[in-house]
Amino acid sequence: MPHHDGVVTLPAEFVGRPGSLPRHCSRHGLPAVRQKDFVLQSKVKIKGNRFLQVGGRGVLGMAERLDQHRRNVRVADVKGWPLCRKCTRTRAWWLTVASVLFFGGLAAFAGALIVAGVTDGMPWLAGVAVAGFVLMPLSAFPFVLGSLPRLTGAQTSPDGASVIVTNPSEAFAAEVPSAR
Ligand SMILES: [Zn+2]
Repeated sequence: MPHHDGVVTLPAEFVGRPGSLPRHCSRHGLPAVRQKDFVLQSKVKIKGNRFLQVGGRGVLGMAERLDQHRRNVRVADVKGWPLCRKCTRTRAWWLTVASVLFFGGLAAFAGALIVAGVTDGMPWLAGVAVAGFVLMPLSAFPFVLGSLPRLTGAQTSPDGASVIVTNPSEAFAAEVPSAR
């Protein structure tokens, strides 16, 4: 069944019904080795100019943005999304990289502080602490790469009524109803 512009739109209730999703993954078109239940969010466009929010209003601006996100985000329950061997391997790899960065950074940061606390005159320890501190937030990038929306190419529509799959595999697209 052909779909427009490499995008498949599925009704949210279809995606949330166990057993209705295809048996092939949306990314590679390979047979699923496991089915995954998760909650898929919509993308939220935050209004307002972030450059006006620097300075004293930084924290307030951040709180406003979080509040806007909370009010505007829509979620869809996904039941049994197919993941193939490649999908699960990719996900495991990126999540491993993320946790190595995060916990490695945390260990370097805390370890350097502890060692600096019991010894004198080791200036390089400050460098270790800083490096650890920088590594921790960097773990966000591999974490996003291993996340299910990124892996599946799926996101919830802004009204929450459907799930949009970008560039699904032919095997996946062939097994879903041709709703648009
Ligand atoms: Zn796959």
